[in-house]
Amino acid sequence: MTEKVKVKTPIVEMDGDEMTRIMWQMIKDKLFLPYLDLKTEYYDLGLKKRNETDDRITIDAAHAIMKYRVGVKCATITPNADRVEEYGLKKQWNSPNGTIRGILDGTVFRAPILVKNIHPFVKTWKRPMHIGRHACGDVYENQEIKVPGPGTGELVFTPRDGGEPIRKVIKEFESPGIVQGIYNTASSIRSFATSCFTYAMDQKIDLWFSTKDTVSKIYDAEFRKIFDEEYEANWKDKFEEAGIEYFYTLIDDAVARIIKSEGGMLWACKNYDGDVMSDMLASANGSLAMMTSVLVSPHGYFEYEAAHGTVQRHYYKHLAGEKTSTNSMALIFAWTGCLKKRAELDGTPEVAEFARKIEDAALETIESGIMTGDLMLVADPDPKNRRVYTEDFIDCIRQNLEKKL
Ligand code: NAP
Ligand code: MG
Repeated sequence: MTEKVKVKTPIVEMDGDEMTRIMWQMIKDKLFLPYLDLKTEYYDLGLKKRNETDDRITIDAAHAIMKYRVGVKCATITPNADRVEEYGLKKQWNSPNGTIRGILDGTVFRAPILVKNIHPFVKTWKRPMHIGRHACGDVYENQEIKVPGPGTGELVFTPRDGGEPIRKVIKEFESPGIVQGIYNTASSIRSFATSCFTYAMDQKIDLWFSTKDTVSKIYDAEFRKIFDEEYEANWKDKFEEAGIEYFYTLIDDAVARIIKSEGGMLWACKNYDGDVMSDMLASANGSLAMMTSVLVSPHGYFEYEAAHGTVQRHYYKHLAGEKTSTNSMALIFAWTGCLKKRAELDGTPEVAEFARKIEDAALETIESGIMTGDLMLVADPDPKNRRVYTEDFIDCIRQNLEKKL
């Protein structure tokens, strides 16, 4: 056995729920801890612990990320009414991802994990398409009114300094209808822009940004204006030097171009566009488990996670004593992404090199035809393709890794 690779500074480790919690332990025990001299600041974000601590543990974890700058998070349950009953919860706790994002103020970037024997449904896509979603405001934090009958639907802003309110009539209703108000803040849009330029620069890829500013001449136009300002003031020279481009276009034009493109860019999307388009992207690439996700804060904090949830259906099978074939790729890449960032911040290339070996071992496992059930459905047909159980898949990756050490 070769000597363990030393990781200089701790990383923040956030454990989670259900099937991903099971796989988390497996990948740690089999792929990371045997080879790394690694200290983690461990936070158990499993639902039980969140309930016990009145969700204090999630806030503590976010603050730990601010201290150590990088963290890796397992998928967690966002409780609904069923979960309150299932776990006997004190209340319906908020989504941990939302809580952490609220504290770190970041943007979530997603990108597919590509392998040679799984082709995207869109034939032209050759390089990974990255998506950045502005996860703040808009329709997710709206106010809505069901209009019962004739009357005036209005938009009103009342200044706190006692100045005159600004009013606009949205619609003079003659009959029942609906009306909605949404918001965003200049500072949130600016940090979204900063995160996107930072990520594109980090990855050395073009940045595309799209809104509907021809229709939304104030709201969407403000997004465009802030992105343009940020680019001109802070990024233009750096982008030119790196040979990458910032490109603005309308959302519908962006959709049309994306489908015909080769990929390999970051597509920055407003909240709703990003919600919809990231699911489109994930399924176009075959499986939710082949997608990485990272929260990049404009203050320089990074949180890596899988794009999928806790895979509840598989967990219940597991509890019933059945074997599952659950894909651990996204979780493994969350760990390697976190280690590579740690290596960059610490100036320890040997840690990044080890992380890349794990990634290569994992990709080669799938490319050799050994895969979990979700991938059997989307991989190129090949007689050597073999569906393996959750743990066997990780064992095969370990065997490939051993050959590289
Ligand atoms: P999910 O966990 O993403 O799973 C949905 C389905 O996608 C699974 O039933 C499975 O399909 C397939 N799938 C997802 N990940 C897979 C993997 N690694 N390997 C193989 N198949 C995979 O979503 P969900 O079942 O709707 O949500 C379960 C829980 O996760 C919820 O409590 C939700 O709150 C939470 N959640 C957490 C996060 C997060 O922490 N980031 C994100 C989303 C959801 P088949 O059943 O057809 O095999
Ligand atoms: Mg969605």
